[in-house]
Amino acid sequence: MINYISTRNPSHKVSSSRAILSGQAPDGGLYIPEHLEDIRCDYHDIISKDFRGMARAVWNIFFPDYGDALIEELVTRSYEGKFSAPEITPVVKVGGSHVLELYHGPTSAFKDVALSALPNLLTAARDMNDFRDEIMILTATSGDTGSAALCGFSDVPGTRIVVFYPHGGVSETQRLQMVTAPGSNTCACAIRGNFDDAQTGVKALFREIPHPVEGVSLSSANSINIGRLVPQVVYYFAAYSQLLASGEISDGDKVDYIVPTGNFGDIMAGYFALKMGLPVGRLVCASNRNDVLTEFLETGHYNRKRPFHKTTSPSMDILVSSNLERLLYYVCGAEHTAEYMKALSENGEYQITAEELAEITSVFAGVCADDDEGAAAIRDVFNREHYLMDTHTSIAWACMEKLDAGHAASGASEHGAASVVLSTASPYKFSRAVLEALGEELSESDEANMNRVHEVTGAPVPEGLAGIFSREVRHGDVIEISDMKDYVIGKSE
Ligand SMILES: *Cc1c(COP(=O)(O)O)cnc(C)c1O
Repeated sequence: MINYISTRNPSHKVSSSRAILSGQAPDGGLYIPEHLEDIRCDYHDIISKDFRGMARAVWNIFFPDYGDALIEELVTRSYEGKFSAPEITPVVKVGGSHVLELYHGPTSAFKDVALSALPNLLTAARDMNDFRDEIMILTATSGDTGSAALCGFSDVPGTRIVVFYPHGGVSETQRLQMVTAPGSNTCACAIRGNFDDAQTGVKALFREIPHPVEGVSLSSANSINIGRLVPQVVYYFAAYSQLLASGEISDGDKVDYIVPTGNFGDIMAGYFALKMGLPVGRLVCASNRNDVLTEFLETGHYNRKRPFHKTTSPSMDILVSSNLERLLYYVCGAEHTAEYMKALSENGEYQITAEELAEITSVFAGVCADDDEGAAAIRDVFNREHYLMDTHTSIAWACMEKLDAGHAASGASEHGAASVVLSTASPYKFSRAVLEALGEELSESDEANMNRVHEVTGAPVPEGLAGIFSREVRHGDVIEISDMKDYVIGKSE
């Protein structure tokens, strides 16, 4: 059976259900499978199935203590009837490349793939480990995670969720998605402060009131939980399977994946897929103007001491990519990883060795593109191919084109037979920036902008988004930061 260890201490070992229940290791490290050899398999056994079959096969490898029968039930509960595409994550051919659409879930963002699964994995883990408390999920969000988490935990027995977001700090669409979220156990609350205040406040609550009332334990839904990462491994196989079925590749061909990256979770799932044996060529880490990972993949120097840029791809605006720590462990070992993480928290930077960098760049490449380059990609691809990308996907597309241009110039041919750009959000979620990129007129109202995108593309507005403007507002609270503690205690009773 696979053991999970902490990235900072390999002698701390737990089962997969324990790792999911705890979220983070007690020493501050992240849980990972102890040996990558343990996840090795024949990829043919996975890609021959439909999405749910693939999920079942992948979860079985990573979460052996759940057992196959329970996993089958959890996969069904996570995905049945929740996604609008029969493939769950369909691949679309666009020009000479392919786009893997990860946004057909209930909130039109790729986080739905993982947050549909996590609540089920978490509540099963609680039962398996004889944990009796009700689980109260606390999340601070700058937009996208909040609505996907509210949706994922909505009416999941034994759980409640409170999402804090900055008052006036999210888009109209994002706010409406949260305040109209369904579920008798859900709650979204604005705080008078910015996202950092919300996040700092939530972190303090985990320390101060881990049990807000008797019989309730706080837990987190953020992307350092291994139960959020593993469900994302599945769509790398799903993409390969679809490319094979449509004749775009031959069996065994390597495929490049270009991933719009923030916290390094999505692309880390691709690394696990590679280590399982899927023929992956390069994993391209696409960043926006916040190019800390691009610099790291070029120089081995991680330096968070840089200006923070607000961009039109806000889910990639990040200076510390937590999931990178998982990759560091496998490449650099526990001792170096602990050293680097200490340096990062104390000095804001660290430098890996030349050998470590060489091993990382044998798989990963880092490329960045700014808002203008992203907007140009939206416009060009729409004009040429009549395919509309959101502002995150378009950063990845622009990065792919830069990389291709570089390869052509140098005559290098190390890349895969086909390339897949991961599309992490529906263009309707970012209607304003998308219309701006297309040179269309903007309205003050997000509803009008969404309808305008519909007129331009002819594609229907996703159901979950079309409804938010008429649905009842269920969560209208706005509170001071200093009141967060009492608020959570109140919601726990
Ligand atoms: C969260 C998010 C990302 C970044 O994914 P990571 O796993 O954090 O790297 C990219 N695009 C969108 C739309 C997202 O919501």
